[in-house]
Amino acid sequence: MPPSAAPSSRSSNVDPAELAKFQALAARWWDPESEFRPLHEINPLRLEWIDARASLAGKRVLDVGCGGGILTEAMAQRGASVLGIDLGERALQVAELHALESGAAVDYEQVAVEALAQREPGAFDVVTCMELLEHVPDPESVVRACAMLVRPGGWVFFSTINRNAKAFALAIVGAEYVLRLLPRGTHEYEKFIRPSELAAAARRCGLEAVEVTGLTYNPLTRRYRLDADDADVNYMMACRRTDPLGALDR
Ligand code: SAH
Repeated sequence: MPPSAAPSSRSSNVDPAELAKFQALAARWWDPESEFRPLHEINPLRLEWIDARASLAGKRVLDVGCGGGILTEAMAQRGASVLGIDLGERALQVAELHALESGAAVDYEQVAVEALAQREPGAFDVVTCMELLEHVPDPESVVRACAMLVRPGGWVFFSTINRNAKAFALAIVGAEYVLRLLPRGTHEYEKFIRPSELAAAARRCGLEAVEVTGLTYNPLTRRYRLDADDADVNYMMACRRTDPLGALDR
């Protein structure tokens, strides 16, 4: 199915096949036993990691590529006012319905991050961009837009998948074929991003990468945990905006 109408001319950084994969699964976003189970399971871990650094209560937060709102709502429950954006129309419908039921203080909008960056530069204290970079044609364009959207001194959190033989073995062969945690074809190896590459892209965009942590999965206990010494496969990176307002807004 083709993606829904592009909301603006600045949303060309999208792979229609990637969006279609998520559109097809959208009804199951809040089913903790579904294809989205890994996201539900890592959610408390990433929420804690983000909150411990950025103190979410009272903050204005943007969640880029929010999907059904799993992290978006959790951050709102910590007292942040959160805007979730995505280009998947169905995911946003599901997210909005769920927020109505849960009463979470969230807003959702179908807009490209690059377009929002033009409209509201420096408007957010915290920007999160989880499990999105490995699905877009030009990840650095997303990094740059996130950098523009956060205020100077504010936090940007990314998560993605490292690119090496172990990541191929665990994130693709293991997760999609052996353990079947994710549908086959969820991830493409070429789109994985090394932490050094992400840190370099962040630096070019006026962000300083301050911390990285790995997110590991133990197939025996079926548990995820944070491991600061093992970013070989899934990892998160915390960055702060060093550039003043206006420096990036070219
Ligand atoms: N960040 C959420 C969801 C990750 S799944 C979480 O971690 O819980 C990836 C999401 O990226 C999907 O919701 C998909 O619709 C969205 N997506 C894919 N390509 C996109 C693009 N180019 N721009 C914005 N969102 C995109």
